[in-house]
Amino acid sequence: MRERVVVLGPPGAGKGTQCKLLAAARGLLHLSTGDLLRAEVTTKSTLGQQVKAVLDRGDLVSDNLVLAIVRNRLALHREGWLLDGFPRNSTQAAMLDDLLADLGQPLQVALQLQVHEEELVARLLIRGRSDDTEAVVRKRLQIYARQTEPINAHYQVRGLLKCVDGLGSVREVATRMANSLNECQQGEHAIC
Ligand code: AMP
Repeated sequence: MRERVVVLGPPGAGKGTQCKLLAAARGLLHLSTGDLLRAEVTTKSTLGQQVKAVLDRGDLVSDNLVLAIVRNRLALHREGWLLDGFPRNSTQAAMLDDLLADLGQPLQVALQLQVHEEELVARLLIRGRSDDTEAVVRKRLQIYARQTEPINAHYQVRGLLKCVDGLGSVREVATRMANSLNECQQGEHAIC
């Protein structure tokens, strides 16, 4: 059966890199809200210009906008997917529950990539994306701690949260991610 997975973790944890590998290996859709928002920015549309201002500040864009993006993609793609960067707060987590119930596509697992803060800051500053300046990075980590980290509990109480050590080489982490998904496929309980 094709997997339906949320990938959680702070900025710089490696969600994008790992999702790309996992999606390619398993034939899943990789749905990154950050990538889709950055693509909108490059079109220079009015919406893109508004989104750019939010991204440059390190803030989150509106819940309704990202939900619309995710809803459109998931409604068209029923074959298995990885959500990267969504949900980002408890409102979005509740919106996703409702959306998946409507679509009849229950979530199988939320994989949480764990990396400590010093390593995150170092990785983000090396990455050098336009929203990776030190002040913006610190703000994004703060928003993560306040708004996103609490949603781990949302999945934990549902028995859906599984933690993955995000330290080490890309390949080592990819192996851990794949093993975690295999364990879920074999019916093992998600634990963190
Ligand atoms: P990411 O590539 O996931 O690090 O996202 C980059 C930026 O896109 C974030 O700092 C937010 O400004 C915005 N973004 C991505 N996903 C979401 C989301 N689910 N809700 C709100 N803003 C988002």
